[in-house]
Amino acid sequence: MTTLVPPLVPPLVPPHFRDHNEWLVPPDTEIERLQGTLSNHLRQMEIKLSKPERTDFVKTLLAAQNQTCAFGKQVNGMYCWNEPKENYIDDVYTEKWYLKLQWGHIKPRCRKTEQTKEDLCLLCARCNNQIQTSRHLQQLKAELLSKIEHIDGML
Ligand SMILES: [Zn+2]
Repeated sequence: MTTLVPPLVPPLVPPHFRDHNEWLVPPDTEIERLQGTLSNHLRQMEIKLSKPERTDFVKTLLAAQNQTCAFGKQVNGMYCWNEPKENYIDDVYTEKWYLKLQWGHIKPRCRKTEQTKEDLCLLCARCNNQIQTSRHLQQLKAELLSKIEHIDGML
């Protein structure tokens, strides 16, 4: 008779609880997904690109962003992470080892400023939903610098 031994399960430390993350380059399936979601944004700008042109746009942008989130490109996205729900498949923790990127707007869409495809960037869920939100970059910079000053005062 054999004894069943439970598999070794590493301690569960989700990406948002780690001091930093290491990410793999987005796979081809992500580039395919991103060129698809890009077409919605282009439609709103009344720009028409073919699928090969959209794929090229995604690849060029990813190269300019060092294959990661626009706000994490200097540090390989080490402080970026996916939406926590992305790590569950059928309620089983199945962590993604690449950042699932979202289309972001350098000029926030809700400000009703004219959008061009050069205003698009790729952001992780963390940066898109919790950092950039509806702020212009100048407003964001002032806000973050103010918060850093407060944090410095508490350290
Ligand atoms: Zn990010």
